[in-house]
Amino acid sequence: MSEEDGNFYSVQVGDSTFTVLKRYQQLRAIGSGAQGIVCSALDAVLGIPVAVKKLSRPFQNQTHAKRAYRELVLLKCVNHKNIIRLLNVFTPQKSLEEFQDLYLVMELMDASLCQVIHMDLDHERMSYLLYQILCGIRHLHSAGIIHRDLKPSNIVVKSDCTLKILDFGLARTACTNFMMTPYVVTRYYRAPEVILGMKYKENDSEHDKLKTNQARDLLSKMLVIDPERRISVQEALNHPYIHVWYDPAEADAPPPQIPDKQLEEREHSIEQWKELIYKEVMDWQERSKNGVVKDEAGELFVSPCYLSTVA
Ligand code: AMP
Repeated sequence: MSEEDGNFYSVQVGDSTFTVLKRYQQLRAIGSGAQGIVCSALDAVLGIPVAVKKLSRPFQNQTHAKRAYRELVLLKCVNHKNIIRLLNVFTPQKSLEEFQDLYLVMELMDASLCQVIHMDLDHERMSYLLYQILCGIRHLHSAGIIHRDLKPSNIVVKSDCTLKILDFGLARTACTNFMMTPYVVTRYYRAPEVILGMKYKENDSEHDKLKTNQARDLLSKMLVIDPERRISVQEALNHPYIHVWYDPAEADAPPPQIPDKQLEEREHSIEQWKELIYKEVMDWQERSKNGVVKDEAGELFVSPCYLSTVA
């Protein structure tokens, strides 16, 4: 089933072949987006579950290229607990000329909001999920990043109710991860208490009524069509429905430094895109070779696995 090539091996995932570093084992498709298929895997070096996303020929046209480049550059510099963290970047091809596929390795979450929005959530969870979305967006806004395509399939959660924004937007196809293909395992049918680790509080009708009124008030302010009159992210974070969760370390984290100031205006030929994206992969490998990787708190740590596997 798998064919070996140095540090890499290939495995069939539905219609697609994943050629990944040997450290990533037990690949299983968990979703698909406009750019390609996402698998869960076990990182045998760190001993943790990860998500591996394959972008096939990311430079094939302007839209794909711009999106892949933007995602890669931003993921590399954003470090916030409500934005998905990039753990590794690699290509199995050995040179720019041969460059075809890009793989992004990220922390693995349990389900996307597509599944969660069907659940009957209590206010504690609903407000906490919304708080985390707002913290993530505020962090992106603080660096001048506007998502433009925030939707349930771009937001992922874990069973402990933690939430992360997956990517950085641009035009893409509709909620495609509804997993019609038989090889993709949908988690939609899992019981709510499994997806969000729920144990509902006892009913307290006074408290519930207050929370429902606050939720309606916030919703009505967020749904204002005129952006001038619509509630801002900061105002929403200060709204009583959300403010109970407020932690300055999460809501007011220092803005990420984006090295590429022309990120949005870039227009290039396919060949130039290919080179730009390839350079970003090489830059990642160079940096990880030195073993310098940031953890969630922004702390630098030296990871021996990067020394042996990325070389
Ligand atoms: P994307 O192409 O990044 O939009 O991902 C497509 C789908 O794959 C998402 O809607 C999620 O259902 C799933 N997915 C992507 N990344 C992850 C992740 N890190 N953890 C869990 N599921 C993910």
